[in-house]
Amino acid sequence: TTTLDGKVALVTGGSRGIGAGIALRLATEGADVALTYQRDDDRAALVVKQIEALGRRVLAVRADSADPDAVRAAVDRTVEELGRLDILVNNAAVFLVGPVEQLGPDELERTLAVNVRAPYVAAQAAARHMTGGGRIINIGSNVARRAPFPGLALYSMSKTALVGLTKGLGRELGPRGITVNLVNPGPTDTDANPADGPNAAAISGLTALGRYAVPAEIAGMVAHLAGVDGGYVTGASIDVDGGFAS
Ligand code: NDP
Repeated sequence: TTTLDGKVALVTGGSRGIGAGIALRLATEGADVALTYQRDDDRAALVVKQIEALGRRVLAVRADSADPDAVRAAVDRTVEELGRLDILVNNAAVFLVGPVEQLGPDELERTLAVNVRAPYVAAQAAARHMTGGGRIINIGSNVARRAPFPGLALYSMSKTALVGLTKGLGRELGPRGITVNLVNPGPTDTDANPADGPNAAAISGLTALGRYAVPAEIAGMVAHLAGVDGGYVTGASIDVDGGFAS
């Protein structure tokens, strides 16, 4: 196991689903945790309570990732209120899918703003604050690795951009002792992709393991990368997908 005592993490979209799982796991490992969310105050408050119960400091910031100023402000508030920033997890994303003819300029702009611009802006702001041992962990997607059904072009395009961000930034920040990695979840039981949803059986069938992940299984890899044991991994894209891309 890893230990993150004394570290401070920021998880975007940390109020539900995979992001909440990551926030809780990092807090369990000893980190103080800031999280952003878009609109659901109650769900954010629940995660705040859970992290407080672990004895860690926690900060919840309502910040729409589509707004780059809000993203930068969330990074800066984390440093102001929790004292430093060691771990950034770019997790918040929108999942706009459908026939390419139906996804117009609005969907294109929102997807690029939340899934691509925000991770770049957050990483840029975080890099200013990070010191040796810093970690930037981007959350990609299994369907950027393999597109098994139609309707995914826009979302997959946005997630594939994180490969370049990860490699380029990993190379650039390596000399400062900061690692940058990409974790590609497979189908994971969340509000966005419930394991009892109408397409869940078909999606499970595309994995080698024949089932969905739970958020804790994605969070485990993030915790590994965030800790000392992950120290020699950088620029990497890691599938935590039950064999979906294999
Ligand atoms: P959920 O929809 O369950 O949770 C999304 C979280 O992000 C919530 O905390 C939500 O806050 C927040 N959020 C959404 N939009 C914004 C925004 N514009 N600004 C700030 N916060 C926002 O998603 P998942 O947990 O399923 O997905 C998490 C990540 O994992 C995403 O990057 C997704 O692409 C990726 N992924 C998920 C897979 C899956 O099967 N679930 C598979 C592969 C990748 P609020 O409640 O306030 O809206």
